[in-house]
Amino acid sequence: MNESIEKIVEAPVFARGHVWLAGAGPGHPRYLTLQVADAIGKADVIVHDALVSDAVLSLARNGELIFVGKRGGRPSVAQDEIIGLLIDLARQGRRVLRLKGGDPFVFGRGGEEAEALARENIPFRILPGMTSALAALAAANIPATMRGLSRAITLATGHAAGSPDDLDWKALAKTGEPIVVYMGLKTIGAIARLLMEGGLPPETPVAVLMAATTPDERTLTATLATVAAEVERQDFAAPALIVIGRIVSMQAILSGQNR
Ligand code: SAH
Repeated sequence: MNESIEKIVEAPVFARGHVWLAGAGPGHPRYLTLQVADAIGKADVIVHDALVSDAVLSLARNGELIFVGKRGGRPSVAQDEIIGLLIDLARQGRRVLRLKGGDPFVFGRGGEEAEALARENIPFRILPGMTSALAALAAANIPATMRGLSRAITLATGHAAGSPDDLDWKALAKTGEPIVVYMGLKTIGAIARLLMEGGLPPETPVAVLMAATTPDERTLTATLATVAAEVERQDFAAPALIVIGRIVSMQAILSGQNR
């Protein structure tokens, strides 16, 4: 066995008129899969979000770059406009790479986009990426699961915290298993309160991992009782992940020798 990287990524062929929905990983290009790196070079057009880093986009060769994310506080392009754009570009016979941060099916609305493409009979393929939580945990020396500490891990979105259609944080607290919250910086106060009401001890360790694997990377550690104030005091900004649970305590043990 001595397969070259090129041979591994050779199949499938990126055909004209097809849309590939791909994940670009957490930010640094070293986390790209071989297949996504190859597709970036082959695409005629790359429709990307704000979380796809410039370092990743610099791997594009002839592909036209179309940005559809949020910038400077302005809202992102509406989801149905993005879907319409993907369909138009595919019907023009172009090789369309829809590139998202992390994994396209983890809080990336990739499911909705794939559903629309299926409905319109546009051939597509899903190219997974490393979701930011897994990369950020590794970068922070926090094992996602750990015998004796956890038996499951929940990936949750914090963006709806406090609203009627929110998930049941108290029920999550009762599992005692660690939780990684995406999009939770603004709502961490409410989330922490609900988790404590659900039975998680106030001293439960929490880590906030900001801009993991990028030059802006920062982390802080706190407890469930103090995390909201710490996020504010240390001026943490999106993108950030909030890791809640005893797995966070491994960070101090692993950080010394892991370099
Ligand atoms: N599909 C993406 C998630 C998109 S939702 C994925 O699989 O990772 C956007 C949220 O992802 C951000 O608000 C933040 O919570 C998280 N995120 C994405 N990239 C990140 C990074 N490099 N560091 C920390 N959080 C990140």
